[in-house]
Amino acid sequence: DYGLGDADPEVHNIISKEKQRQFRSLELIASENFTSRAVMEAVGSCLTNKYSEGLPGKRYYGGNEHIDELETLCQQRALQAFHLDEQKWGVNVQPLSGSPANFEVYTAILKPHDRIMGLDLPHGGHLSHGFMTPKRRVSGTSIYFESMPYRLDESTGLVDYDMLEKTAILFRPKLIIAGASAYPRDFDYPCMRKIADSVGGFLMMDMAHISGLVAASVVADPFEYCDIVTTTTHKSLRGPRGGMIFYKKDPVLGVDLETAINNAVFPGLQGGPHNHTIGGLAVCLKYAQSPEFKAYQNNVVSNCRALASRLVELGYKLVSGGSDNHLVLVDLRPLGVDGARVEKILDMASITLNKNSVPGDKSALVPGGIRIGSPAMATRGFTKKEFVATADFIHEGVQITIEATKLAPKAKLQEFLKFVASPDFPLRDRISD
Ligand code: PLP
Repeated sequence: DYGLGDADPEVHNIISKEKQRQFRSLELIASENFTSRAVMEAVGSCLTNKYSEGLPGKRYYGGNEHIDELETLCQQRALQAFHLDEQKWGVNVQPLSGSPANFEVYTAILKPHDRIMGLDLPHGGHLSHGFMTPKRRVSGTSIYFESMPYRLDESTGLVDYDMLEKTAILFRPKLIIAGASAYPRDFDYPCMRKIADSVGGFLMMDMAHISGLVAASVVADPFEYCDIVTTTTHKSLRGPRGGMIFYKKDPVLGVDLETAINNAVFPGLQGGPHNHTIGGLAVCLKYAQSPEFKAYQNNVVSNCRALASRLVELGYKLVSGGSDNHLVLVDLRPLGVDGARVEKILDMASITLNKNSVPGDKSALVPGGIRIGSPAMATRGFTKKEFVATADFIHEGVQITIEATKLAPKAKLQEFLKFVASPDFPLRDRISD
């Protein structure tokens, strides 16, 4: 049995290069993080070899006594990490990732073509919350369910709850989804609960981005108001790549959520659980109950505020004016540059973040903003001071992008990207990693 370097030097080499890239760059993608060595060890273990369709104690394969112990431990830790009473809440730790977890919830509690409302993708929502364009039903969620988005109030950058309420009264959704991929503020759960109740719908929170912050109680607690809470496990929670679904144990609107959700995961949409991921998740959820984790999440939030304040000092317009969580959304349109060009220039300087649409944008490929997150660099030990310096680096990158845009004023995005990547790009010596 050979190690990877001997068995497959090609893949080994690619992994080494990616490792170098991860460690040399400033990683500011809000949905990414660095998981721990302990989690990686569990994920790279013999657990990957085992089939265990079903739930602990009720499997379709033999040889599952240790896997049963592991999955039960993972479930217990998940409930503890989010301060939940196991009489009232249950959890399924088998979802393969965040999008499947969401679709599993939909198929559990809805019939095809039932109505849902989630935050619109160009306003910060996630594809899996029902995204569609006027021309195309993009997400499977919008193909199999009828989706009507709610949006931000463009003047404040905050969720327009009044409009959500008015639309919900007309549309009468069976499910309202809180949660986002690019929203720098907390959701108003009491208000959303009230709206869901007024139309007889379920309320679900997809806390994928902020689950680490929720576990550490540094943002509002969605469990107080929601019937179902889904999450990915690899973002601020800092675990392996996976998903979880938390559900109320008492029936909601006449539905036994426990049975419906467990059946939707398996056999509804998945086969064998990824036991290596469940092993890594159990490790992550133990850590999520430690004082170090709480301190880390406090750093995530205070670092993000320091970054936001510095950007405001430098004259940037932030969607909603600031941040209560782990990310800021910068509206670059007043500067005459777009997120795609800035993303590229910063990438060349080993600063990794992503272009992002901001309210009012026309194009998702050339959107007017960038999203910047603090979780990954907080893991790497950055404090407020380094985040202030990071804001200055980003500012320099934006200035270079403005100058480059002036040098190639008519260039379409692809031509511009070629221009800046060419060896004779005149501003190249100002970009160094
Ligand atoms: N939900 C939210 C809010 C997300 O931001 C994401 C991913 O970025 C997902 C779900 C989907 O997770 P995955 O990429 O694991 O399917």
